[in-house]
Amino acid sequence: MKEDVYEVIIIGSGPAGLSAAIYAARAGLSPLLITGRAIGGQVATTYRIENYPGFPNGIAGPELTRLMQEQAERFGAQVVFDEVMTVDLSAHPFKVKTYGKEYGAKALIVATGVSPRRLGVPGEEEFIGRGVSFCATCDGPFYRDKSVVVVGGGNSAVEEALFLTRFASRVHIVHRRDRLRADRILQERAKESERIEFVWNSVVTEILGDSKVTGVRLKNLNTGEESVLEADGVFVYIGNVPNTQLFAGQLELDEQGYIVTDERQRTSVEGVFAAGDVQERILQQVVTAVGSGAKAAMEAERFIAELEGRAYPGWT
Ligand code: NAP
Repeated sequence: MKEDVYEVIIIGSGPAGLSAAIYAARAGLSPLLITGRAIGGQVATTYRIENYPGFPNGIAGPELTRLMQEQAERFGAQVVFDEVMTVDLSAHPFKVKTYGKEYGAKALIVATGVSPRRLGVPGEEEFIGRGVSFCATCDGPFYRDKSVVVVGGGNSAVEEALFLTRFASRVHIVHRRDRLRADRILQERAKESERIEFVWNSVVTEILGDSKVTGVRLKNLNTGEESVLEADGVFVYIGNVPNTQLFAGQLELDEQGYIVTDERQRTSVEGVFAAGDVQERILQQVVTAVGSGAKAAMEAERFIAELEGRAYPGWT
């Protein structure tokens, strides 16, 4: 297989990857960005982003992705719609293999993001696509005038529950505690919504159905009492897991599987940088992803300059 060697390859196309592409392209590194299964990552499945500066009325996730891609390409980044199957970081240039091609990279920026955490209860896998969903933006319109359950108490659960009230007649938020983790503004909106009801101190122990979901079995964690809540759909928003399977055994990961980086986005392998949610446990936001993507690109530029014995034009 013929191998094209790039100065910088970016894996992942969420805000971190696309920002890295903008900065690397403007540095004249002609980066290659490999999108993954779909462009945009988590943001592309977000109906509206209200806290990214510059958009006082919010912006739709897919639109923000489109604008970032346009900006990256305008400066010369190459965006390919493909999925990385393996990486080999044991030799330099690093090897990146997709379904169809093998590439070499002098510097690599990992921006593979996170995926929704699964509940791990009976019925969850079985009913995916038949009532179990991890994406309200994608599947919400199927639940017009129906009843849905949202599991979780963080920003995603509450934000997506609010989105689902556009369609569903009843939205139950099932949360394992009696207090939400979500931002205050979202909590207040949810409490004001006539379509949202909270089920506190409870967990879903089983997803019930025949050919499709009919409800969930709940357990109250205070009383131990079990009950069945009827529902046509179940949306699971209980946090995320980092997409780091490609790097296991090659990059240092923390106990939760996130890539360990220093303050300059450097990983445990010289020349490999990580940005965005895949290395961010505390504040997984577009605004933090964008910042770390820019830093990773600048560091990649510095790494390549040093490798080639050139003076680095940026900071010292
Ligand atoms: P999160 O903040 O980690 O919240 C996960 C929620 O699920 C928590 O309420 C947690 O309960 C619950 N949970 C975890 N494991 C569970 C289990 N096994 N069974 C039942 N419940 C479980 O995750 P997220 O809401 O997906 O958000 C991820 C990141 O993206 C966060 O940094 C968040 O701020 C950010 N985000 C921001 C926005 C925004 O700014 N508008 C929107 C979406 C996401 P406990 O509360 O008891 O731990």
